[in-house]
Amino acid sequence: MIVLTDPAAAHQWTRQTASDKRVAIVPTMGALHQGHLSLVKRARQVADEVVVSIFVNPTQFGPSEDLARYPRPFEEDLSALRSEHVAMVFCPSPATIYPEGFSTYIEPPHVASLLEGRIRPGHFRGVCTVVLKLFQIIPATVAVFGQKDYQQSRVIVTMVKDLNLPIEIDIAPTIRESDGLAMSSRNRYLDEAEHRRALCISRSLRAVQEEFLGGQREPARLEASMRENLRVGSSDGVDQLDYAVVVNRETLQPVSHFDEPMVALIAARVGTTRLIDNVLLSSEVDR
Ligand code: AMP
Repeated sequence: MIVLTDPAAAHQWTRQTASDKRVAIVPTMGALHQGHLSLVKRARQVADEVVVSIFVNPTQFGPSEDLARYPRPFEEDLSALRSEHVAMVFCPSPATIYPEGFSTYIEPPHVASLLEGRIRPGHFRGVCTVVLKLFQIIPATVAVFGQKDYQQSRVIVTMVKDLNLPIEIDIAPTIRESDGLAMSSRNRYLDEAEHRRALCISRSLRAVQEEFLGGQREPARLEASMRENLRVGSSDGVDQLDYAVVVNRETLQPVSHFDEPMVALIAARVGTTRLIDNVLLSSEVDR
């Protein structure tokens, strides 16, 4: 496994490798868990060689967010990636990606303005900018992202289409702890009691999925049931709810016909930790 910090060297390596092979890129911010590693496994299925980027992207964090305390267990990450037979790791410094005088940003698509975009202004501008830069530096055949960050996956699919970027996008399912909590680098902020309270997020998504399978199609009813299960402000629930919505799966706009493909999305805080999770509402998938 080769570890590169220089964009020019990473570009050259990828160009050479991609001349006769399919190369997949898995962009991450490190602090890798089984969710990230499942993307690497998926990448190995859809490509010949896998590149993983590790970069805690400062432009996607708001001023009051957790950039400084975001975990960076770099050596552990490298050893996990070595075990997964990753061919190249690209781990640039912030000053390499955003050198003195950097001032060009991507204006994200409409789907970025809702939900996370409302609560975290500038977040998707930072995500789109760094993802486009990564795609330029690493001209891979395919990029693998997780459904865990559902809105992000919609933003990236739309950006790639809108800007005619020559890369395939593959979205891989969410990996969960055995108790149902969606794996996240931020789960390590939770103490035991908070972890237990955070479980009502996945529980309420499972419940809403059951209701959907039972025939309930009214978004307002499904959302009310999610809120009930989240027990906001109670000793066994989340501390703060940013949103719990059932929306159109592609546009993330409110549902107007009950036969539209839907997704249920939750963002909530437990203690000081902000968690997001989602489930596709369908009679076939995500069961
Ligand atoms: P992050 O390091 O949080 O920026 O995540 C890097 C990639 O891993 C993104 O495409 C995420 O959607 C994906 N990811 C994060 N958590 C999970 C999970 N539990 N299951 C599957 N993919 C995940």
